[in-house]
Amino acid sequence: TVAAGDNSLTMEGGGNIGYDRLLIATGARPVQLPVPGMDLAGVHNCWTLADARAIAGLAAKDSNVVLIGAGFIGCIILESLLKLAGNLSVVEMEERMVSRMMDDTAGGMLKRWCESKNVEVLTSSRVSAIEAASDGAGDKDVVLEDGRKLNAHLVVLAVGVAPNMDFLDGSGVATDDGILVDEHLATNVENIFAAGDVAQGPDFSTGGHMVHAIQPTAVEHGRIAALNMAGLNPVYKGSLNMNVLATAGLVSSSFGKWDGVSGGDSAAATDEENYKYLCLQFGEDRLIGALGIGMTEHVGVMRGLITSRTPLGDWKDKLLASPNRVMEAYVAHSQL
Ligand SMILES: Cc1cc2nc3c(=O)[nH]c(=O)nc-3n(C[C@H](O)[C@H](O)[C@H](O)COP(=O)(O)OP(=O)(O)OC[C@H]3O[C@@H](n4cnc5c(N)ncnc54)[C@H](O)[C@@H]3O)c2cc1C
Repeated sequence: TVAAGDNSLTMEGGGNIGYDRLLIATGARPVQLPVPGMDLAGVHNCWTLADARAIAGLAAKDSNVVLIGAGFIGCIILESLLKLAGNLSVVEMEERMVSRMMDDTAGGMLKRWCESKNVEVLTSSRVSAIEAASDGAGDKDVVLEDGRKLNAHLVVLAVGVAPNMDFLDGSGVATDDGILVDEHLATNVENIFAAGDVAQGPDFSTGGHMVHAIQPTAVEHGRIAALNMAGLNPVYKGSLNMNVLATAGLVSSSFGKWDGVSGGDSAAATDEENYKYLCLQFGEDRLIGALGIGMTEHVGVMRGLITSRTPLGDWKDKLLASPNRVMEAYVAHSQL
């Protein structure tokens, strides 16, 4: 627990530690599915090194593996499971894969790509239970809400994360989806700061507060928090919602307001056959969001144009007509 009144921490095993300034960087933990069967052998999160070793030990070339969750972390895990597992099925309750970073076109393209790699992708499908199968070989049945059953030797869960902040109960530190911090990474309680996955900090695109549970945000948070704790006073510009992902070898990326803003303009170039897609979102004449599939060469450019808030001038119309010219737009503005 944290006793903010007398600047001290109480440890689980007993004893207190005093502080002048406190940084909370306790990260997140995997969310568990609220269904029966989560405690069966062979049902794993992928969080610790021990989890990864257990998964690698159970995934064999002739085995059935079910991955529950096709979000950002699920797709990272999918990339590795595909190399190990015989038959891989993915169950996702949303109507598309990686729904928090992809629109229907991108999510559909990713699903088709995975299916072309012999991955069974079941979207709009919820798991209702995991049961021991009657084969005597330690297999399980993953039961879906519509009654279907998927046989699995190994079940891997990737259904979201929750911040580790329970120990703050009664401390007075304000929380929401994470610990609320201002542009100095300070909480509402004097001398207490928070950073990383546990912190709900300023968002670059909206000015609101978001948990961006990714490593670059944790690094930026840590740096700004440390400088402020050391008595300097830097202001954080906010973290960019950003995901760069390889799923079964297909690279996807999304940045900022990839889903656009009301009254904004957007342009998309779609090549379904070659799994290429680029969608740009504009606010006035600035790029505010981007979403790409199979566009590895544009990743840095999209991020750069968004974070620099570069006024595009007449390049906005050129990009509305031909989004694939985003590299040219970047070069034109970086040489001004
Ligand atoms: C499978 C997987 C793949 C990922 N891939 C990517 C990726 O490709 N790119 C990317 O940017 N991000 C990725 N992430 C996210 C990235 O790992 C996190 O954003 C990053 O680790 C956050 O850093 P952190 O320091 O805030 O938290 P953590 O790295 O989680 O560290 C928090 C630490 O605090 C400790 N702790 C917790 N509670 C307490 C307590 N009460 N007392 C003492 N100690 C405590 C924990 O044990 C842990 O060591 C991935 C995550 C997972 C699970």
